Amino acid sequence: MKLYSVLTDDLAHCVITGSPTVAIHHVFGAANRSLSEKYGFVIPLRPDWHNMADYGIHFNRDLDLYWKRRAQEYYEAHYGTRAEFMREFGRNYL
Ligand SMILES: [Zn+2]
Repeated sequence: MKLYSVLTDDLAHCVITGSPTVAIHHVFGAANRSLSEKYGFVIPLRPDWHNMADYGIHFNRDLDLYWKRRAQEYYEAHYGTRAEFMREFGRNYL
């Protein structure tokens, strides 16, 4: 499946810095990685903001939570109820 994002219009540029050098981050990883792709919950991040520095989203709880919350808000506005989100993703981030 071709990757698309509902969290940015531009998968080619970092959502934080605008850099054209990016890695694609799945907002919900591990077991929920495929759900992230299904719903477009992926974001482009410059490698340092991804997992190449200690402030990167993989090590930065606040940044991680910020994007999980934005994704859940999008889900509740477009895809389903909070109960449905929790059933699919396993917990509530809001
Ligand atoms: Zn990632």
